[in-house]
Amino acid sequence: MSQHPPAQRRLPADIAPATRLVHEGSRRSAYGEVSEALFLTQGFLYPNASAAEARFEGEGPEDSFIYARYGNPTVAMFEDRIAAYEGAEAAFATASGMAAMNAAMFSQLKAGDHVVASQALFGSCLYVIETLLPRFGVETTLVHGPDLDAWSAAMRPETKLVFLETPANPTLELIDIAAVAEIAHGGGARVVVDNVFATPVFQKPLELGADMVMYSATKHIDGQGRCLGGVLLSDEETIRGPVETYLKHTGGAMSPFNAWVMLKGLETLELRVRTQSASAARLADAVADHPGRARVLYPGRTDHPQFELAQRQMTSGATMLAIELSGGKSAAFAFLDALQIVGISNNLGDAKSLATHPATTTHQRLTAEARAALGIGDGLVRLSVGLEDAGDLVADVSRALDAANC
Ligand SMILES: *Cc1c(COP(=O)(O)O)cnc(C)c1O
Repeated sequence: MSQHPPAQRRLPADIAPATRLVHEGSRRSAYGEVSEALFLTQGFLYPNASAAEARFEGEGPEDSFIYARYGNPTVAMFEDRIAAYEGAEAAFATASGMAAMNAAMFSQLKAGDHVVASQALFGSCLYVIETLLPRFGVETTLVHGPDLDAWSAAMRPETKLVFLETPANPTLELIDIAAVAEIAHGGGARVVVDNVFATPVFQKPLELGADMVMYSATKHIDGQGRCLGGVLLSDEETIRGPVETYLKHTGGAMSPFNAWVMLKGLETLELRVRTQSASAARLADAVADHPGRARVLYPGRTDHPQFELAQRQMTSGATMLAIELSGGKSAAFAFLDALQIVGISNNLGDAKSLATHPATTTHQRLTAEARAALGIGDGLVRLSVGLEDAGDLVADVSRALDAANC
């Protein structure tokens, strides 16, 4: 009998999601290491020439690899673990969130197809949809996400994909995933959801009717600001078919080192984002109660314009909030400059709390009118809540609100 039991790559059906985040997908080597090994290798040896031939014919032994652009054991551990947690049949890990988004689009579309997307998107996703796809003969229509009639009106016979982000960056506007999925499926289109802000812990787009979920693993999945990464999750046929074919030939694979970091990130994901979310809720209440003129936008608060929808499709308000300062840009800058614990950075999902002024950074590229249409005013500050003591964060933000005279 072997000294070490073989790793159980797929856990039984009755195992809880939190346990999957710690164990699912492990491939344990002969050494019986407790922490997953980092297989930092590009290539793999074959025992003989006909074994190499068989591997290229797709007939190698189960769980065998050819080249790290196609797959790698450490990357596969990350993919299996996140797929199990998301409730997806399969996953493909990518070099960044944008590599995942790009693959979701270009692996499934061709000239003549049409895409409908919400207008409030992460800046680079908007670039791909608004600028890049039309260059390749794919027409796109952007709609105001909460307006379901707009989604229906935008559908065409050639609409192939529907893309949305909820909560949206940076306004935390929500989109009804189930309702949009029904409209899209009625017209024969598939739905891709950018689930970065909600995290895999607080929102399950596939259960709500989406066909594909994408993450920037750079954010909460790493959660400690180290590596770039992304992942696409969907049914086996889509991932092993067009997605894998596209990614393995175009080079968007995740590096084994980054996969190892992300894999270990998954082990603490629930713990981290639940704590971050509890602090975000406390911070949102503190901003709302502050005796000034700052307005807070947080999906977990009853005064969020779409609180009822948040209750229906999310299990928490998650880790992000937005603060609208009535004094415009100067108030926002005074607020940011007065923060002592919260850092100024456009990143998010980190253990360190981070604040950004979208109008002059992430959304600077847009015209003032386009920003206004998205609800991005000059006084809007976006806050990503980290793992510091919640009391310290409340004190820091309250002091900064005072300094900004709000
Ligand atoms: C960061 C982010 C992306 C892009 O991810 P990268 O890892 O930076 O490429 C896409 N969507 C959302 C909502 C994001 O926050």
